[in-house]
Amino acid sequence: MKNVIFIAPPAAGKGTISEYLVNKYNYKYISTGDILRNIVKENSKLGTEVKRRMEEGELIGDDIILPLFKEELLKIKEEPFILDGMPRNLEQGKYLDDLFNELNVNNYRVINIVIESDLLEKRVTGRRICSSCKKTYNIFFDEFKPLTENICNHCGSPLISRGDDNLETFKTRIEKYKLETEPLIKYYKEKNKLTNVEATKPQTEIIRDVEKIIEDNQ
Ligand code: ADP
Repeated sequence: MKNVIFIAPPAAGKGTISEYLVNKYNYKYISTGDILRNIVKENSKLGTEVKRRMEEGELIGDDIILPLFKEELLKIKEEPFILDGMPRNLEQGKYLDDLFNELNVNNYRVINIVIESDLLEKRVTGRRICSSCKKTYNIFFDEFKPLTENICNHCGSPLISRGDDNLETFKTRIEKYKLETEPLIKYYKEKNKLTNVEATKPQTEIIRDVEKIIEDNQ
């Protein structure tokens, strides 16, 4: 099974696809967004600064995120793994190359999730997350609605909205994505590591496309 790096605009569905792959194939999952949200919970000076930047839709400095990410990657003793949110700019891409060289990781594929931006807006503003088990829902799409309004199907805890999932922050996040993250598409294409997945279709078809990529021996 291939290691996976997701590149996608905010709320394109990386989290949902990752959850499926973790359950079915036992992938280890690293989300830099989750790492940062845990730092925010600590209520430290660093947490306050990270919270402010996330709520503004800005990226967190490489000096903060890279060591935290490395620590998580080194904890993973067995592959395969999924990276969600790393790399997010070219510098992080080069950092990851060095880290992979050091750790002898070469069996990976970068999955670029392609999706129209007006759909993203609905995905962001409709996204709800379980306050306890972190399962993700969306109130605007039947496929992803909770069975009972604002309650998690899995564990019965209340659903909440992420602090950065509002329209204003979303606009900055999309801007940052275009400016900082999109150059990585060319970067990985030139390395022959990139595959595009169309995400404007039903979830089952997206999953099928992703499964083909990770099971492919090329
Ligand atoms: P999404 O992909 O839906 O925007 P994430 O949970 O991946 O959500 O990220 C939320 C926020 O966390 C980002 O807007 C950014 O502020 C911060 N973040 C996540 N990953 C990185 C990273 N690799 N480098 C810098 N900031 C990051």
